[in-house]
Amino acid sequence: MSLSLRLIYDRARQQFPHQRIIAQAPDGLHRLTYAQWADRTAQLAHGLAALGLQPGARVATLAWNHHRHLELYFAAALMGATYHTLNPRLPAAQLRYILGHARDQILLVDADLLPLVEPLLPALPDLRTVVLMGGAPHDSYHDYERLIADQPTTYPWPTLDESAPAGICYTSGTTGDPKGVAFSHRGLYLHAMMLCMADHFAIRARDVLMPIVPMFHVNAWGFPFAALMAGAGLVLPGKFTPQSLAQLAESERVTIAPGVPTVWAAFLPLLQSGAYDLAALKQIPCGGAAVSAALAQAYEERGIRIAHAYGLTEGGPVTHICTLTAAEEALPVAERAERLTRQGRPAPGIEQRLVGPTGADLPWDGVSPGELWIRGPWVAERYLDDPRTAESFVDGWYRTGDVATIEPDGTMRIVDRLKDLVKSGGEWISSVALENALLGAPGVAEAAVIATPHPRWEERPLALVVRRPGDPTPDEGALQAYLRERFPSFWVPDQIRFVESIPKGPTGKIDKRLLRTTWISA
Ligand code: AMP
Repeated sequence: MSLSLRLIYDRARQQFPHQRIIAQAPDGLHRLTYAQWADRTAQLAHGLAALGLQPGARVATLAWNHHRHLELYFAAALMGATYHTLNPRLPAAQLRYILGHARDQILLVDADLLPLVEPLLPALPDLRTVVLMGGAPHDSYHDYERLIADQPTTYPWPTLDESAPAGICYTSGTTGDPKGVAFSHRGLYLHAMMLCMADHFAIRARDVLMPIVPMFHVNAWGFPFAALMAGAGLVLPGKFTPQSLAQLAESERVTIAPGVPTVWAAFLPLLQSGAYDLAALKQIPCGGAAVSAALAQAYEERGIRIAHAYGLTEGGPVTHICTLTAAEEALPVAERAERLTRQGRPAPGIEQRLVGPTGADLPWDGVSPGELWIRGPWVAERYLDDPRTAESFVDGWYRTGDVATIEPDGTMRIVDRLKDLVKSGGEWISSVALENALLGAPGVAEAAVIATPHPRWEERPLALVVRRPGDPTPDEGALQAYLRERFPSFWVPDQIRFVESIPKGPTGKIDKRLLRTTWISA
């Protein structure tokens, strides 16, 4: 029996036909049942077949989180084709590279995102057809709703090979061209089951899940699949603001809402204002960047667990989840929050290694830092048609490029990206640890730490800090004193600069490359 998205689709349709999907699409709020979503998915498959889509071919999407995007995930994958999500925050040159490299034949695009790709179309010989989702009909492009209207609501799905690629996402590397990663049916299925595990995110049919992580970035971390597998309500928030998220969370009684730390930091003032009734919200799966103790504590104090996870595109993506023991659950809130900053144990099926600069395995003693290597049923084994595979994949292991320490019980803590570590006087300083500590200092809204060249020490850390609006409290001396209480003195940045904002890359992480070019040449 092959494990595939088909099993998730059939079960959702048969066993939870009345469960709801609420989608904030560019053309308004849509409410549908699983049964209607399943019907529309089959209709879309007929529409795609009519456009000439064959098994093995690729369909690209450039879209926010909404029901049509989810219909395409399943229609393409269940037909034996592959969906390929594009990140609208990528520069045009990268979008063109990715669309060309993946040889996408059909593109489904939200009407408001069309201007991003329209100028690229003449340079893409494989791309035959563009389908507009949710906008006014257009002479040059197909219209999604017309494409699926009047099509049959069942489809003769082919038998699927579980190792076939259901979806593709390119990693938005900060240097060089993006690299493609395929997600197999089997990998997505097992990953969804893993997300549902009680000690992970405990997703149940009675839950209402609102993936804030974008469907254009590693399948919204697989949460739409997990929701459909569990039979949970699903809220797809479209292009959102903190206010629109709060409104949806309140009106739909959302219980679980996965998102990156920066989104939840921006959401915090709304939560604290008490303007919305968010009593149903119990859990925030949070990852993609490190969770600070300050963030975890602020939510913990309001009864919302920040469930910290680690992953990466090549990881499928989630590989590690931070869970607390019964004894840890009983700790005072500040200590509990501190425990939640660990990236956690590998999920069942995921194996990890800690590898030193000579290639030797390092001890799992909680203090030795080394590069994290991983492998497992949903971890990639190669990049798509890319010679750089050999640099990153070794004997079935993926070299993450992240520096970590591992406790004897397997609990992993990320120290830094290899390339973001500050090397000062022959010692490593973790930019991530400094940032997390700064986020706990009074009056600090955002913080980033980068290495700057130094004639004597090779590199020294420079901290950039955004003050909380209207709070002039933090100054350089106070923050340095704050850090001195927590770290060896050589870790404390010699300079702390106050800035209006910190630039973020296409997946919402701090853009350290841009910070380096701005601040090091300055
Ligand atoms: P991406 O492939 O774009 O999703 O980025 C993956 C990278 O994000 C990882 O290699 C880590 O550097 C970083 N990352 C993801 N989750 C975490 C986390 N929980 N803590 C720290 N860094 C993280």
